[in-house]
Amino acid sequence: MPNRKRNSKKREPKPFVKFLNRYGSDLTILLLFVAGIYLLVEQREIGQDVFKWLGALFSKIRHVIYVVSRAIYEWFAKTETSDVVGYLLIFLALFAIMNRIRRHTVQNYPHTKECPNCQSELNRMHRKPIHKFLGRILFLRFKQYRCTNRECHWKGIQIDYL
Ligand SMILES: [Zn+2]
Repeated sequence: MPNRKRNSKKREPKPFVKFLNRYGSDLTILLLFVAGIYLLVEQREIGQDVFKWLGALFSKIRHVIYVVSRAIYEWFAKTETSDVVGYLLIFLALFAIMNRIRRHTVQNYPHTKECPNCQSELNRMHRKPIHKFLGRILFLRFKQYRCTNRECHWKGIQIDYL
């Protein structure tokens, strides 16, 4: 039964998608309306404006790419082999620390199929944004549960590896 519930949760569209489905055509109409008003009010040549704006945008993008690639090149040029090994060791250490945190997190939230207070069935709830955020960082899946017994009100999370 939990599987069925999980599937039905997954099929439900996200709020943003729901919003687009409901108001997408209204937004398009509004956009057309605003564009029409703009064309009526705007006296200058719009084509030229757009062209200038695109030109400025492209030169800005080109500049950013130049600055970033130059910074990367300079970083590589002045980095020695021992530095590279040092970075690698730091990376490995961070990776090991991260794995420890993940293992502790998963172990600290034991899996139960029933409420630890009253042994009633558990229902899945929507996760909090913080759980989504932590899940992304730690590569874990946070699931939030609530006791189905109305007098109990137990809430808890269970955590899985992705
Ligand atoms: Zn309970």
